[in-house]
Amino acid sequence: MTDLSNVLVPTSADEAAAAFGDGAGITVLAGGTLLMPRLALGRLQTERTLYLGKAGLDGIERADGTVTIGAMTPVSALIDGAPEPLATFARHVADYEIRGQATLGGNLCAAPGSTTPTGDLQAPLLALDALVRSVGTGGERTESVDDFLATGPDGRLVLAIEIDAPKRAAAAAVRRPHAHAYSVLAVAVAETANGVRVAILGAGPRALRATSVEQALAGGTAAKDAAAKVLDDVEPQDDALASAWYRRQVLPGLVERALEELR
Ligand SMILES: Cc1cc2nc3c(=O)[nH]c(=O)nc-3n(C[C@H](O)[C@H](O)[C@H](O)COP(=O)(O)OP(=O)(O)OC[C@H]3O[C@@H](n4cnc5c(N)ncnc54)[C@H](O)[C@@H]3O)c2cc1C
Repeated sequence: MTDLSNVLVPTSADEAAAAFGDGAGITVLAGGTLLMPRLALGRLQTERTLYLGKAGLDGIERADGTVTIGAMTPVSALIDGAPEPLATFARHVADYEIRGQATLGGNLCAAPGSTTPTGDLQAPLLALDALVRSVGTGGERTESVDDFLATGPDGRLVLAIEIDAPKRAAAAAVRRPHAHAYSVLAVAVAETANGVRVAILGAGPRALRATSVEQALAGGTAAKDAAAKVLDDVEPQDDALASAWYRRQVLPGLVERALEELR
């Protein structure tokens, strides 16, 4: 491992885990598309930075129906390599340059945005019932993405994401016609071994599950009526992209569209 005083550059996953320890005083640097602007503008000071670019944490592997995606896999590699609806969400992240630099792990660990929704890929990971493999205090653990997002990434170094390919999947989104604009609202749907899962991006600080919709579908409710229940699950807010009112008007129809496109 290269140790440049306050920048650590591990050359394997084991070195990265050892250097991360319990995460105290460590700032993880992946693609840097979120972190570097904050550092450059002096909005973030770091004690020690752990740069993951040479730790061998990238790549997509398939075995027995499970897709394992390294945390450092660029978003661009997900477009052709990840299961739906993750691939479609990856295609809509920012622009060509950002997608080539940004990583899956960085997107999963992106802090909730204050002015726009952020971490678009969290929604398809929730819909796909993905598992997150990480290290930190207590060693390595694998947990559901729901649990990982509930507690937040603090103190954890994400190594990989594991996904069982879904039976069917769909995505629907309201975006703005500008390459650098985040999605206003997006819906990810996947039929997993445990039924249909629905996740929403843009109606809260982080992506979240629409469990009322899922329960209605499981009970045999038609897509349109089940989709209307999404407003029981979310509390849309005003932000720089859209008002809470607009989001409440649009979201049920967007969920219905995604459910109808499930294939
Ligand atoms: C112009 C522009 C447009 C953008 N548009 C979009 C968009 O449309 N949709 C979208 O979702 N995002 C967008 N982003 C945000 C960003 O590009 C993505 O969220 C990206 O996936 C972040 O990944 P990264 O590797 O660059 O993360 P970094 O900036 O390196 O890190 C982000 C955060 O995650 C932490 N982190 C990174 N990797 C790990 C890990 N393995 N374990 C633990 N913590 C980790 C870092 O410590 C940091 O807190 C945009 C950014 C820019 C600059």
